[in-house]
Amino acid sequence: MKIGIVGSGFVGSTAAYAMVLQGVGSEFVLVDINRKLADAHAQDILHATPFAHPARVAAGDYEDLKGADIVVIAAGVAQKPGETRLQLLERNAQVFADVVPKVCQNAPKAILLIATNPVDVMTQVATRLSGLPPERVIGSGTILDTARFRALLGEYLGVSPQSVHAYVLGEHGDSEVLIWSEARVGGVSVFDFANQINRPITEEVRKQIDDGVRFAAYRIIEGKGATYFGIGAGLARLARAILSDERAMLTVSILTEEVEGVAEVALSLPRIVGRQGVVTTLPVKLSEDERRALRKSAEILKQVATQLGY
Ligand code: ADP
Repeated sequence: MKIGIVGSGFVGSTAAYAMVLQGVGSEFVLVDINRKLADAHAQDILHATPFAHPARVAAGDYEDLKGADIVVIAAGVAQKPGETRLQLLERNAQVFADVVPKVCQNAPKAILLIATNPVDVMTQVATRLSGLPPERVIGSGTILDTARFRALLGEYLGVSPQSVHAYVLGEHGDSEVLIWSEARVGGVSVFDFANQINRPITEEVRKQIDDGVRFAAYRIIEGKGATYFGIGAGLARLARAILSDERAMLTVSILTEEVEGVAEVALSLPRIVGRQGVVTTLPVKLSEDERRALRKSAEILKQVATQLGY
């Protein structure tokens, strides 16, 4: 199975590395406007294969994406001092206007995985530019926020995060919505379970976990300048679900016809992911507060996409 990575900076190269370690994919092509960087990462990752799984890893051009099953797009530019969020977005949309048509021309059958931030808006941009059906252009969305929510709940309750079922929906960013009302350990509400083990989820605990999830990226960036291990592993998880037609439930972002009254907006909902991309989206039960917060998140994203002209 062939995977292309376009934009092999921190996030792109880490995604390729995580896939090689997990044995997801057998051939990798790293494309970057900075060819030297793509070459260096490709060599470095190739040297990890004897310790992990056999895979061919090389830097290449767009033509080398031919036959790719998946192409991860993590290309983007960094924020300049004094630049507004919208100006940065405009420059990233220009990068996508360059990249996406070339990817589609050379790998027309590939499913696109979008990782460039702000990922929801960039997913909307990529969907429009590619002309592909939305279920084939998947943003990493809140896959990582959901993982963080489960990890923090699991840690507080002393259970494996794998046994925690909880989602973060909406924007991957400040307006994201942690769905507490449906959070469960096995089939039991987290609140009931927490009371049973005498570790109640008080307002304070709830706020701590919420902040821990919502502001994780800010803290990591403060400490090391960028975040890439978590999202790299998330992209590998997503690629595995696609390549092995797993039909796994993941919170990912695609352009969605209607969300809480907002039309045509890309954001994360619980979706089933398999070989064809997003197979279906699950209906979600939400409390009134959560519903309002999800609508707000959708409105914020829609407004930015509209301002950008997508
Ligand atoms: P991140 O932390 O999001 O991965 P990086 O700056 O490390 O950020 O990576 C973004 C990568 O995207 C860089 O390696 C950059 O060279 C690449 N890039 C930027 N513009 C383009 C483009 N038009 N085509 C291909 N790659 C690009």
